[in-house]
Amino acid sequence: MATQFNYDINPSRILFGAGKLNVVGEEIRRLGKARALILSTPFQRADAQKLMDQLGPLAAGVFSDARMHTPVAVTMNAIETYDALSADCVLAYGGGSTIGLGKAIAYRNDAPQIVVATTYAGSEVTPILGQTENGVKTTVRDLKILPEVVIYDPELTVGLPVSMSVASGLHAMAHAVEGAYAYDRNPVSSLMAVEGVRALRDGLRVIVGQPTDLAARSEALYGSWLCGSVLGTVGMSLHHKLCHTLGGRFDLPHAETHAIVLPHSAGYNARAAAEALEPLAKLFGGSIGGGLYDFARSVGAPLALKDIGMEEAQLDEAADLAVKNPYWNPRPIERDAVRLLLQRAWEGSRPE
Ligand code: NAD
Repeated sequence: MATQFNYDINPSRILFGAGKLNVVGEEIRRLGKARALILSTPFQRADAQKLMDQLGPLAAGVFSDARMHTPVAVTMNAIETYDALSADCVLAYGGGSTIGLGKAIAYRNDAPQIVVATTYAGSEVTPILGQTENGVKTTVRDLKILPEVVIYDPELTVGLPVSMSVASGLHAMAHAVEGAYAYDRNPVSSLMAVEGVRALRDGLRVIVGQPTDLAARSEALYGSWLCGSVLGTVGMSLHHKLCHTLGGRFDLPHAETHAIVLPHSAGYNARAAAEALEPLAKLFGGSIGGGLYDFARSVGAPLALKDIGMEEAQLDEAADLAVKNPYWNPRPIERDAVRLLLQRAWEGSRPE
């Protein structure tokens, strides 16, 4: 039973449902704005251009150079384009990389942000920005970073390849699993965590066989909103520290790294956070680590760090880095236990 908690609610407007892309123009006007700079990655440029055609004069132009890890140099170019086109808001269309660029712009010029989220990463509902400069990644948290309007249109996720859907979905689940045992959790974040993981579990089970099933796509996107909201509300622990270390130092792919590490980090904390994790463990047959691993395997997720470019010889350094400046964690961070966790994640063996 909750006896004491604080809950800072993130103010944002969420529009969810098939066909919601059509309301983007109304939302620009609703914000009192008239010229949106549309952001995308090079890969989604055609979609961004289509959106520009749809918006007519409400679109100032397209900047389609969003990259992984939000390089500051790209942000500066985007701001130059924003000013040159006299834009008055940003419209990020894509996943975490594109959303990161919109946040980085808003952090500097306070541009209102509308986000159309097309993966399950969850960045659109957090006031957190990770950016890189001279090879160093830093993270800032500021309400200016939180997007004002988020549009979730499951029709836009129908083309997200199954492998990316699975990795992205498990990445989202990782926010909720860590949120479930966060030191600063509250009853609402805990409810969102369980419902988010449940919805993603159910959605992904269908998506792997029927990627165009709109009901399953809706379920998964709904789950990703909830899991992202947990990330935006409470602090993260060992799992996120491990993934930031692996991604930052060894350049491993982001969502896949989260997907592989999650069963192991959850298993690491299973006993220390047994009560908080119980409702999540129940969703996976009773054991959080083993259950998540079995689920990941059943939906064809990557299971081993060795399969995504990590060398066994790098595991010692990874363990050393992961235990430096640790985030709060329910179980003490012990170097030998973390090294063993990494070994098993590298091999792809089932957590005990
Ligand atoms: P991503 O944005 O890098 O997208 C990967 C690729 O998939 C891109 O080429 C993109 O254009 C493409 N893509 C996106 N949606 C698609 C769709 N529906 N169909 C086909 N292709 C599509 O990947 P991501 O996993 O969404 O984001 C990862 C980044 O987000 C990381 O840098 C991570 O640090 C950041 N992130 C930040 C937060 C936060 O709160 N700050 C939270 C989660 C993730």
